Amino acid sequence: MQVIKTVKDLQAAVAAYKKDGVSIGLVPTMGALHEGHGSLISAARKENDAVIVSVFVNPTQFGPTEDLDAYPRTLDADCEMAQALGADIVFAPSAREMYPSDDDTWVEVTGSITAVLCGRSRPTHFRGVTTVVSKLFLLAQPDRAYFGQKDAQQAEVLKRMVKDLFFPLELVVLPIVREADGLAKSSRNVYLSAEERKAALVLSRSLAGAAARFDAGERSGAALAQEVREQIEAEPLATIDYVEYYALPGLTEAAEPLTGDTLLAVAVRFGTTRLIDNVILEGNK
Ligand code: AMP
Repeated sequence: MQVIKTVKDLQAAVAAYKKDGVSIGLVPTMGALHEGHGSLISAARKENDAVIVSVFVNPTQFGPTEDLDAYPRTLDADCEMAQALGADIVFAPSAREMYPSDDDTWVEVTGSITAVLCGRSRPTHFRGVTTVVSKLFLLAQPDRAYFGQKDAQQAEVLKRMVKDLFFPLELVVLPIVREADGLAKSSRNVYLSAEERKAALVLSRSLAGAAARFDAGERSGAALAQEVREQIEAEPLATIDYVEYYALPGLTEAAEPLTGDTLLAVAVRFGTTRLIDNVILEGNK
């Protein structure tokens, strides 16, 4: 496995793949890799000739008061894991490599899809995501790119971007990987104290409860969201950012009673750590 740090070297490696007709799978990450990322790398390994994993803590998707400096950086361990899962290249550029000019060129998906949920509390976040993912798509020229349902809104926004900009690739979205007790795996879980880690289980527990009620026939989105909200509010260490539901695809307002697929999503702070989790309520069930 090669570790590539410059745009020029990645372009050369990709040009060689293209010349040989090699199919490319891209897994964009911010590093601190865990089994959630691992599931994406493994899927990419199965479905492509070559696998590129990017490890880049993208400054433009962090707000001014967010955890950019504190974000865990574990490149050596990340390379070991990527190699063990069969990656061919880890692309780990500096911020200057990815943003070579003082004035930036942006790719932005506008409208309610980026204004709701995390877009409300993190107004510049998705512009940073779509910009860096566009750069990665143009550099790696993947046949397939892999993302997690953990970041459900990100997946929806990127699907829209791929469609609107005609990126010639398949965007693959894979299920949330969880700890044995239900907590969604996240690079940010390392910030949690033991008490916060325990309290954070309320997210997966309340969402699973809502999904079970939905499966049993409840079709009021408001009632399901309210139940999740009440359970999280009962946890003293939790401060809710949002508990909301939107229609899929596209994150438009969900009509009541729920009919099609619905995303029920939460963002909750435990101390200074903001966690997200979600469940898809499948309308055809
Ligand atoms: P990140 O490094 O947090 O930016 O995540 C990189 C990719 O891994 C994104 O597509 C995430 O949605 C995905 N991912 C992160 N955590 C999980 C998880 N627990 N299960 C599945 N995918 C995940």
